[in-house]
Amino acid sequence: MRWLFADQLGPHFLDADDQPVLLIESLEVFRRRRFHRRKAHLVLSALRHRAAELGGQAVLRRAGTYTEALDGLPQRLRHRPLSVCAPTTYAARRLVERLPVEVLPSRGYAISEEQFAGWARRRGGRKLLMEDFYRDVRRHHRLLLEGDGEPVGGRWNHDHDNREPPPKAATLARATGLPDPWWPAEDEIDEQVRADLDRWEREEGVTFLGEDGPRRFAVTRDEALRALESFVTTRLDDFGPYEDAILAQDRWMAHSLLSVPLNLGLLHPVEVARRAERAYRDGDAGPASTEGFVRQVTGWRDYVWHVYWHFGDDYRRRNHLAARRKLPRWFAELDPDGEVEARCLSNALTSVREDGWAHHIPRLMVLGNWALQRGYDPVAVTDWFHRAFVDGYDWVMVPNVVGMALHADGGSMMTKPYAAGGAYINRMSDHCGGCRYDPKKRVGEDACPFTAGYWAFLERHREQFAGNHRMSRAYAGMGRLKDLEEVLEQERLRGAGAP
Ligand code: SF4
Repeated sequence: MRWLFADQLGPHFLDADDQPVLLIESLEVFRRRRFHRRKAHLVLSALRHRAAELGGQAVLRRAGTYTEALDGLPQRLRHRPLSVCAPTTYAARRLVERLPVEVLPSRGYAISEEQFAGWARRRGGRKLLMEDFYRDVRRHHRLLLEGDGEPVGGRWNHDHDNREPPPKAATLARATGLPDPWWPAEDEIDEQVRADLDRWEREEGVTFLGEDGPRRFAVTRDEALRALESFVTTRLDDFGPYEDAILAQDRWMAHSLLSVPLNLGLLHPVEVARRAERAYRDGDAGPASTEGFVRQVTGWRDYVWHVYWHFGDDYRRRNHLAARRKLPRWFAELDPDGEVEARCLSNALTSVREDGWAHHIPRLMVLGNWALQRGYDPVAVTDWFHRAFVDGYDWVMVPNVVGMALHADGGSMMTKPYAAGGAYINRMSDHCGGCRYDPKKRVGEDACPFTAGYWAFLERHREQFAGNHRMSRAYAGMGRLKDLEEVLEQERLRGAGAP
């Protein structure tokens, strides 16, 4: 019998179509941490849909903890050999290793943990660069390659074409005619999940973050395949150029909205990449867009997964920049209204409150950048991203927050911190025009808190970064600022206050 965790729901986690399945719904998971309500909904809906699909082939146990669920198995199932694909967190792996369960290698990623370990060994002491890893993944699976092994379009990396600022329109649909994303239709299982979440809040002392609302993401294999099909045939071509752009009134832009079904294990990243490649070969999408998408799904996603295991369980506690500030209430509670005037930040927090989702640039360059500049505690920020985002899991958020957004690992993962001032946000979004701050101003009533915060951040960490050649231009620029002392004093006074 195969025990499937809630992020192992696709067919590739079974050895045969008719293999008996054990699924466990644990209330304790939601009691211990305050997740976004939409995330709880998606996970429960996915588990229950999978159980319904499998019918008599599956047993769905509802219990406080996983151990209670296993202890409470009916006699006829107790002595059945149970196996599980290695789960996706350190805590869950420790749990399954204590239990009488056969633990198989993990599944659901472009390359295995063993292959990554071999790749890392072959690098010797050299940095584990994502770009090199990604090219090897493409070679390994022969993704987007010509017959001679060269990349299609003549280049491995199309980032240069995939960094367009937003178009001069309120939405991408108005600018390019982009159709709506595929949206799921809720059914009676969703209704039951919603009723149970209400009851948990009333009777079980469970509390959630954020707002409830119509389900936005696929939770079954069938839905996931339809979402994938719709994306590659109607939206992929617009994805690349605008993948980094932000429009205040267009939360979804041309993003695929596949991170939820991918992280629930409903789709395999290589099948997703192959489908995108077919769209390119069929003429539905250009090479730059397709490469940008394949990079996200088989490059970044796999890299983050392997880095999570490679650096070990203590990696989450790295705090190279000694960032100790607690998350302010308006940030932690997704409640910027009436407190946060910085339009980019308020918009990103509202998007997370309403949908548990914002695309990678509001995550990294607005929310993460803010937390980096203001010195928020990396453990607290990681926990917040994990709980607040519908696609956030431990393995996703530890490297993305500790290594990428907060540079708390001292550069083990990235060569420089992702700190940026208002100029970047102004170039890549339409927020600044309607903001009470001015992205060009460092000092004064309307000084942009991101711009001023950027210089204050650089000054605070001069010792760590001044010798980094990728930061030399930034420090040279800082040397030319005549008002640096004023900026620093202003930022000292602003401190943890809402911008
Ligand atoms: Fe954000 Fe500054 Fe632009 Fe306002 S001016 S939206 S605070 S970057």
